[in-house]
Amino acid sequence: MQSHFQNLLDKVYEIHDIDKALGVLSWDKETNMPKAGTEARIQQMTTLRRLSHGKFTADEMGELIEKAANETADLPYESDEASLIRYLRRSYAEARQLPPEFVRRVSEVSGKAHPAWVEARENNDFAHFQPHLEEVLQLVKEMAELLGYEDEKYDPLLDQYEHGMKTAEVRATFNAVKEALVPLREAIVERGSQVDDGLVHQPFPVDKQKAFARYIADAVGYDFSRGHLGTVVHPFATSFSRNDARITTRWYPDFLNPSLFGTLHESGHAMYEQGTHPNLARTPLARGTSSGIHESQSRMIENVVGRSLGFWQAHYPKLQSLFPEQLGNHDVNAFYRAINKVQPSYIRVEADELTYNFHIILRFELEQAMLNGELAIADLPTAWNDKMQELLGVVPPTDTEGCLQDVHWTRPGFGYFPTYALGNLYAAQFYETAVSQNPTIAEEMAQGKTDALLTWLRKKIHQYGRKFTPAELVQKATGESLTYEPFIRYVTEKFSEIYEL
Ligand code: MG
Repeated sequence: MQSHFQNLLDKVYEIHDIDKALGVLSWDKETNMPKAGTEARIQQMTTLRRLSHGKFTADEMGELIEKAANETADLPYESDEASLIRYLRRSYAEARQLPPEFVRRVSEVSGKAHPAWVEARENNDFAHFQPHLEEVLQLVKEMAELLGYEDEKYDPLLDQYEHGMKTAEVRATFNAVKEALVPLREAIVERGSQVDDGLVHQPFPVDKQKAFARYIADAVGYDFSRGHLGTVVHPFATSFSRNDARITTRWYPDFLNPSLFGTLHESGHAMYEQGTHPNLARTPLARGTSSGIHESQSRMIENVVGRSLGFWQAHYPKLQSLFPEQLGNHDVNAFYRAINKVQPSYIRVEADELTYNFHIILRFELEQAMLNGELAIADLPTAWNDKMQELLGVVPPTDTEGCLQDVHWTRPGFGYFPTYALGNLYAAQFYETAVSQNPTIAEEMAQGKTDALLTWLRKKIHQYGRKFTPAELVQKATGESLTYEPFIRYVTEKFSEIYEL
């Protein structure tokens, strides 16, 4: 007779296949589908989602998980079997905590909030979005109660994206980051605008940008034989298996950075999934372990690698040869400085490596204030601008460039934002450890190569997929828990040099 564990695996494979088919439909919707196909596509996706959710939350699934757990109880914690059971127990419990009626209200409220947000943003009309955000906040509050918490209401929300991480830990970390980065940002601003980034703001023919995006993704180690590069409005990476992990990007005809760094960023995400161990295939463990750790891999490739001088000393000649008129008269140092210009600005997604974190800290603090009833939604625009002044020293002239800029609050996704900044911190911590364990990594990086770095990442992070929690993985890979200090060292050294502080 087949073991309970094998029966469980058969179920897991079936649900996984439905979820990945859903992923293909979603990828196609963003990249290729004619707009007219939207209604039918949403119906198709809703059906698959219902099938998957129904199978996963059935009583039978819970019984099967427990039977398989008993059967594999003697296997070591690190085994694939025990890891899968741990993951399934947790996500099964979570999925059952949100009743179908609540899930239905979430899609209803979000379905209306999204177009209202688009309109409000277009017309700089916060009042138009306000009642929708109030409804979303109500759902966030209910979700926190349904998921349950011991310490803070924000904990269960954060836990969905960064399992095991507590709000108090993030707060302490972000406060320390703030304390170190505000003076650095002020010192840079005081030096004046000595970095000229005009060279990346020129006409760059899109077909050549596309050729270079493929070249550069290949150069950092993204495997095109198991990948694909597509065009979208909002870039993302998605994987259907470790042998089919796709990236997307966007092309600005007069600005080089979005396609360049968007491609590198998404390559970092996709390389994580390409590097998961084959034994985890067709299970939910064949993915990055959390939003923050996933973001650490994209930020590592985009920033630590992709905005380093050594990398461009190796690859800038190729870029110059594609764009001789635009870049022929600018040397690699000028380019390096241009792509590392620090400029406090209003828009998160356009922020530089240093000031990006302030945008996240701002959102993290405002989400808690809204959740805890300390900030009425009507007062959000003012609170936003006050925090912009405090953290970035600039105030957006409109709400469109302020509290209306992100899509995230059209759904009850509080707790997601902090993972972006956590990704920056993890990336610096991983990189510092990697180099201390294998100095070849730094030598190769100075020549624009990432082979040794990628080997380290595969061995210490990628292969495990979701077997371990973020905290377990960081401890295993670096011998320490999360620390912000490597990031502070990294940015202080880098920008002190660029800005001659
Ligand atoms: Mg990302």
